[in-house]
Amino acid sequence: MEKLWKKNFISIEPYTAGEQPKSDDIIKLNANENPYPPAPGVLDAIAGTRGDSMRMYPSMDAMPLKQEMAAHLPSLYGVELRPENIFIGNGSDDVLATAFRAFFNSDKPILFPDVTYSFYPVWCELLKIPFETPAVDADFGINVKDYAKPNGGVVIPNPNAPTSIGRGLDFIRELLELNRDCIVIIDEAYIDFGGESALPLLSEYENLLITQTYSKSRSMAGMRIGMAYGSEELIQMMYAVKDSYNSYPLDNVAIAAGIASLQDEEYFRDSLAKVIATRDRTAAALRELGFTVADSSTNFLFAEHDKLTAQEIFAHLRERGIYVRYWNKPKIGNRLRITIGTDEQMDKMLEAIKEMV
Ligand SMILES: *Cc1c(COP(=O)(O)O)cnc(C)c1O
Repeated sequence: MEKLWKKNFISIEPYTAGEQPKSDDIIKLNANENPYPPAPGVLDAIAGTRGDSMRMYPSMDAMPLKQEMAAHLPSLYGVELRPENIFIGNGSDDVLATAFRAFFNSDKPILFPDVTYSFYPVWCELLKIPFETPAVDADFGINVKDYAKPNGGVVIPNPNAPTSIGRGLDFIRELLELNRDCIVIIDEAYIDFGGESALPLLSEYENLLITQTYSKSRSMAGMRIGMAYGSEELIQMMYAVKDSYNSYPLDNVAIAAGIASLQDEEYFRDSLAKVIATRDRTAAALRELGFTVADSSTNFLFAEHDKLTAQEIFAHLRERGIYVRYWNKPKIGNRLRITIGTDEQMDKMLEAIKEMV
């Protein structure tokens, strides 16, 4: 019998994340996860969970976490915001998808770079948002003038992924000056590893939305916490969308764990410093081995060898249980994206590469 109901299925090609292999003895440098555990207080908060936090629904807008976040923004980023300026969701992918639905409803295309986070085109397909992708230059630089045309919105990660390249506030300001009549989203998934946050610009631009995540810098990818910062009006719009399909994206355990992470700023800064030191040392070592490595403001490196192909190196590392990422795509097909692990893990990776060069 012909399955006629199939003609009503959605036609969609989903985002593909880095492999999540099962074995424990592999070195996993393919999903930009943090190699260090979250702050000890996070695990204590989870262990201290009481029955009531399961029995009862959580705060619809994760208010206790928003209040804690607002209290820490001055010391973390030198800005003051109120809980009304914060939206919290189930990872920043959920937050970004909510923002796309809330703000990108124009007939004009939204703009994002051709080399960037590959989830953006997926949401555009899902939500039927037209889009254009201005080309980055030969060094993967984003030319701000490409964003000077009529559009239905702009989304750019800063630092960009998978290029690892960060831009200063002058760039973001110019982008905002060119785009006063649409929503500009800056995806700051990697900002804590040395980028310059656009948070201080929120007081000047009501059309700016900034997203961040607990997944990378706070070592909590498994917990799923992401946030957006913006004017009260934008945040209210996002809540209107969220409350139209999922009232409670954050559970009580995640709220408690998120608060505990914020409360240990010293641990946060120490683990960031470790990742940054390992990153810079690894970048230098790779350059010695004949790689071109972009200057990274993230917890990963974007590297290309002058003789070996990315595919060869990827396969060689994989045989040795070391997983990195590469995409068989135009422009970036000879680049590896290598997440920064512990010093020991990076040394093993460098040793494995030395066998080839
Ligand atoms: C990792 C990542 C995200 C989303 O991470 P979540 O785990 O959903 O918070 C968003 N944008 C970029 C550029 C990323 O690399």
